[in-house]
Amino acid sequence: MMPLRRFQMHQPKNVAEAAEMLAHYGEKGRLYAGGTELLLAMKHDLLRYEHLVDVKTVPGLDKIEAKNSSLHIGGTVTHRAIENSPLVRERLPVMAEMARQIANVRVRATGTLGGNICFAEPHSDPATLLLALGAKARVQGRNGERTLAMNEILVGAYETALAADEILTAIEIPLLAKSQRAAYLKFQVHERPTLSLALVLDVDASGNAITKARAVVGSVSLTPCRSDKADALLVGPRDKVEKQLADAAQVLAEAADPGDDLEGSAEYKRHLTGVFLRRAFAQALSGAPR
Ligand SMILES: Cc1cc2nc3c(=O)[nH]c(=O)nc-3n(C[C@H](O)[C@H](O)[C@H](O)COP(=O)(O)OP(=O)(O)OC[C@H]3O[C@@H](n4cnc5c(N)ncnc54)[C@H](O)[C@@H]3O)c2cc1C
Repeated sequence: MMPLRRFQMHQPKNVAEAAEMLAHYGEKGRLYAGGTELLLAMKHDLLRYEHLVDVKTVPGLDKIEAKNSSLHIGGTVTHRAIENSPLVRERLPVMAEMARQIANVRVRATGTLGGNICFAEPHSDPATLLLALGAKARVQGRNGERTLAMNEILVGAYETALAADEILTAIEIPLLAKSQRAAYLKFQVHERPTLSLALVLDVDASGNAITKARAVVGSVSLTPCRSDKADALLVGPRDKVEKQLADAAQVLAEAADPGDDLEGSAEYKRHLTGVFLRRAFAQALSGAPR
């Protein structure tokens, strides 16, 4: 690893000032949150910046709140804070459970949700679950605020739709309705997930039929992937859907189109999609609403 090149750290007082700084420093500057990805890439000399803008000094971005049937998680909230938040644990336990499975306690205590999404590393745990939950990212730049769905903000590996002066200020996640069940599972051998699978199901009053489904497979393609055709196979009476799980997994894996890499062959990842869809389906329907 290379010694870190010299850079200047700037501490904006608010989001508008952070946006101005990013615009001013252009390609020489970058937003800095926990630094778990950024500083590592800079130490390896993969990225070079002369100015880092420390978003953690901006007040208010580290809050977790429930508003209008949604959970709002500020851009600088750490994975550890999500894992330990009584509000998240009570209102959206699947999110707290996902955060608990990220990396190790050192990374979780420093790495932020905003940094995870904005780095757009393909093996992101939060990205997979947030897409299944229908979460949206609030972003702010010099020209004002906008809201992006997860499939809009994540456009490729290490690539987002954010303009250079835009800051992710919060992730808004709809809370699950009483009729909804969710599960998040992953398979991991190395430092990051080999495959992650998130599933949200709407069930009817009897609990025996699925009226709507959203399955997302992550970590096997550049961005998390879902398929309307796979979701349609997950709707219907429970026993019928159980028989269609293998077909749904095949369709989902085809949509994701995994490749061979150090995590495993494409065929292995297609197989894992089937295994984890079946497990997620059983888990989602096994307990209390999540
Ligand atoms: C050893 C190790 C293991 C890991 N394992 C996992 C894992 O199992 N699952 C997983 O999902 N992740 C894993 N990670 C990734 C980890 O979750 C991320 O490193 C962390 O969340 C990134 O947040 P950060 O605050 O450190 O971002 P930084 O490193 O500070 O920033 C990352 C990028 O995002 C940009 N950025 C940061 N915040 C914002 C914002 N609010 N608005 C706009 N742009 C922003 C920065 O400019 C930079 O380009 C692992 C990381 C390490 C080092």
